[in-house]
Amino acid sequence: MALFPQNKLLLATHNQGKIIEMKSLLKGQIKKIVSARDLNLSEPEEAEDSFSGNSLLKARSAAKESGLASLADDSGLCVNALNGDPGIHSARWAQDGGNEERDFKKAMAKVHDLLGDSKDRSAYFICVLALVLPDGQEEVFEGRVEGRIVWPMRGEGGFGYDPIFQPYGYDITFGEMEPIEKASISHRVRALQKFLNFVKEQNE
Ligand code: IMP
Repeated sequence: MALFPQNKLLLATHNQGKIIEMKSLLKGQIKKIVSARDLNLSEPEEAEDSFSGNSLLKARSAAKESGLASLADDSGLCVNALNGDPGIHSARWAQDGGNEERDFKKAMAKVHDLLGDSKDRSAYFICVLALVLPDGQEEVFEGRVEGRIVWPMRGEGGFGYDPIFQPYGYDITFGEMEPIEKASISHRVRALQKFLNFVKEQNE
C-alpha cells in the first residue's frame, strides 16, 4: 500500500511562512501537498510540554479531521544557560503583554537580559516533525543546529530569533545569512531530510 493514501500529504499548519518554506523544500519529492489552511481545519492549542508532544498533537488532530497523512512541526530556540528557555515558549515570548502582534525584538532583548553576564552563550534551534498516517502509525523526526547567542542583534533577514543566533563555524548570524545558506544547515531542513529519508526507505 502507498505510504500516503490518495498520494497526498497534509501539512498540519496554518502558518503561511511554514507552508511556503516546507512546500519549497518538499517540491519534486512529494507529488500532492495540501495544508490545514487550504482545508480550513481547526487549529488545536499547543497544550503539551515538549516539542514532540505539541508536534504529535497537531499531526494527530489534522489526520483525524482530514483522513490524510499529516505532517506537523514544532520548533524553537533553546538557550542552555536559561535551562532551555524560551524553548516551547519561543513564539509566546514575543507575545508577552497579551498583544496579538508578535514582537521578536522584545523577545530577543529578554533573552539578552536574562543571560546577563553569563559566560555560557550556547544555544540551539530545534525542529521536531511528526508524521501521523491514517492507519495510526506515528513517526517523529528531529533536527537541530547548535550555535551561540550574540548581542547586539545583527541582520535583517530571516525571522524570529535569527538576528541573535550565530551557528558554530560561522561569523554571521542567521539574520545576516542568505536564505539558501540558512537552508543548508537549518534545524527545519535537517528534520525534513530525515523525513524524506524515511519516505524513500518506505517506498523502496
Ligand atoms: P511554533 O510555531 O510553535 O513552531 O513556533 C516556533 C517559534 O520558534 C517561532 O515563532 C520563532 O520564534 C522560533 N523559531 C523557530 N525556528 C526559527 C528559525 O529558524 N529562526 C528564528 N526563530 C525560529
